[in-house]
Amino acid sequence: MDCIDSERWAEDVAFIAKSRPPGSIHWQKVQDRCAAGLEKAGFTVERQDYGTGVNVIGRREGTEAPSEVVLLGAHYDHISGCPGADDNASGVAGALEVARVLGQAALPRTLIVACWDEEELGLWGSRAFAESFTGAKLAVAFNFDMIGYASSAEQSQIFPGPLAERFPGLAEELVAHKGRADFIAVVADSSAESFALELEAHAESLGRLTGVMTLTEAEKLDEDAFGVLARSDQVSFWEQGLPALHVFDTGVFRYPAYHCFSGLDTADKLDQAFAADVLKATTAAVATAAGL
Ligand SMILES: [Zn+2]
Repeated sequence: MDCIDSERWAEDVAFIAKSRPPGSIHWQKVQDRCAAGLEKAGFTVERQDYGTGVNVIGRREGTEAPSEVVLLGAHYDHISGCPGADDNASGVAGALEVARVLGQAALPRTLIVACWDEEELGLWGSRAFAESFTGAKLAVAFNFDMIGYASSAEQSQIFPGPLAERFPGLAEELVAHKGRADFIAVVADSSAESFALELEAHAESLGRLTGVMTLTEAEKLDEDAFGVLARSDQVSFWEQGLPALHVFDTGVFRYPAYHCFSGLDTADKLDQAFAADVLKATTAAVATAAGL
């Protein structure tokens, strides 16, 4: 099996990272690139038109337990006027690269790799998919949303008080790490925790610090307390009682150019070595989840 090639990831990020609000010309081009990338990787591709938008769904049938599904998704839309390199060209390019690598393996379970639409409008694309997901057992859904930004500067990571209180072990680790914003963050619900820990073990074997935050059943849909950890497409699966985890760079807690708030979210701000570690660790965790 071929290895993760972060140059390909960087090429895809460079292509995707232009303004692409739903319905725009570049949005269509990115949607087409998802479909073409997944097809080339050996997936059967379907475009799920759910009325307001279009998800791209790539599927590779499992060799032993095809009705058991492992999913990796990333949203390809972004708000108008912002290039969205980290959010979420990084995740889409990452999902395509993982698909390319795992497309060469015979996986016992079925693997779906998806590019979601209209996340920025309120998780519309992933929710349309999760609501209509029937007839198969979802082992776990991995979500990539912002996987490309890291900073090794001291005290560059924000970890809000309520989160530090809820996850004191991580808060301590962050202090020992001098507040550097170069670790991988994973948010899982309790039924997906084992997959998060698997990913963490792989990342730490690469020398990349990883923080896992597991939310209880009560916490995962608690907008007021944990909404900051539940802003992306993993929530669509949680709403359906399906196991899901979110792999990311902590987004707004680390990245000044989040949604182009402070500077443009452009590819030159991203960290290829960080993304490469995210992709390697996730590829290994997805492969294990798929029964390899
Ligand atoms: Zn996003």
